[in-house]
Amino acid sequence: MTVTHRPSPVFTRGRGSWLWDGEGRRYLDLVQGWAVNTLGHAAPPVVEALARQAAELMHVGPGFHNAPAIALASRLTGLCGLDRCFFTNSGAEANEGAIKLARKFGQLHRGGAYEIITFADSFHGRTLATMSASGKPGFDTLFAPQVPGFPKARLNDLASIEVLVSSRTVAVMLEPIQGEAGVVEARPDFLQAVRRLCDDHGLLLILDEVQTGVGRTGQWWGHEASGIRPDIMTLGKGLGGGAPIGALLAREGVCCFAPGDQGGTFNGNALVCAAALAVIDAVAGAGFLAEVRARGAQWRDGLDRLGRRLGSGPVRGRGLLLALDLPRTDAAARAAEALRERGGTGVLVNAVRPHRLRLMPALNISQEETALGIEAITEAVMVAAGGG
Ligand SMILES: *Cc1c(COP(=O)(O)O)cnc(C)c1O
Repeated sequence: MTVTHRPSPVFTRGRGSWLWDGEGRRYLDLVQGWAVNTLGHAAPPVVEALARQAAELMHVGPGFHNAPAIALASRLTGLCGLDRCFFTNSGAEANEGAIKLARKFGQLHRGGAYEIITFADSFHGRTLATMSASGKPGFDTLFAPQVPGFPKARLNDLASIEVLVSSRTVAVMLEPIQGEAGVVEARPDFLQAVRRLCDDHGLLLILDEVQTGVGRTGQWWGHEASGIRPDIMTLGKGLGGGAPIGALLAREGVCCFAPGDQGGTFNGNALVCAAALAVIDAVAGAGFLAEVRARGAQWRDGLDRLGRRLGSGPVRGRGLLLALDLPRTDAAARAAEALRERGGTGVLVNAVRPHRLRLMPALNISQEETALGIEAITEAVMVAAGGG
């Protein structure tokens, strides 16, 4: 089924920050499966973990314990300070679980409150409930009717939340950086104010860290930059380094699912948990996150210089979740195409908005690869931004 327009190359092989298509053409991959391949393509620790676990035990089902799931739950809760973990197969499914957990909490502790305040332009996934929670334009009518109970506030506007709080409200849910909206940051003082508002009204704070979690911003979690703590956090994308896994984490007092309330056949699958453990071990390695921050600074420096030449405003994002505005409203898709098809090696970037390119390279991209990427983007963007 045609659910998106894909360019013609068929990719057959990947290694680190590089991809090859069936014709043998090479690409510098700055998309990495949508911020998924934390350690790049065919990362040895992930490959080894998958091979070892596949030969040992892949799947026993959610009704039984398996060792990688126990170890991963323990690592994640230890790293983020939340108490319990539920594994899923995707980010949307983790958010779906967060919504259910909040609604159950509302039934038990808030007199049946079920509304979750979410935000304009937010993205939480493509199940019916997570599409309804999302503020992506058009999602409100596509596949109508929506799942009710997701009034929309505006990011970085506390008053827009306050007017929506009522006896029906149980939670506020947001991304520390709105990724799909084009890398739009929730300001640290705004996140701190949202945390206070939630505390004052007894509401749960749900952070969707599907895109910002697991080192993407140069810290373990996107919310660390603001110093706040969520009650519930969701993960996906980069957690499995290419293996499909998400996670729902919550503090003890919120974990009100009773046996039978929540589950899924593949949840906590030993194979994908083993891959995620390899990713977590790598990101926890000495100096890894410092190196992510250094590469982030290198990208930002290069892209800022380009932005000044274009007169298009500051680079967005943190760590290795970055976006660059182009001065012409239709330039991003053309720049992405030119980069993909350029002479020599191609470069893959994401035209996240008509005028904005997003970069989400592997967290272990090298200094040389970064320099090459900046040079290629500068060249292509100057042409795309200028030509008619
Ligand atoms: C990608 C994304 C999702 C959805 O994750 P899937 O694995 O595609 O279901 C949810 N929230 C955010 C912030 C995302 O970036």
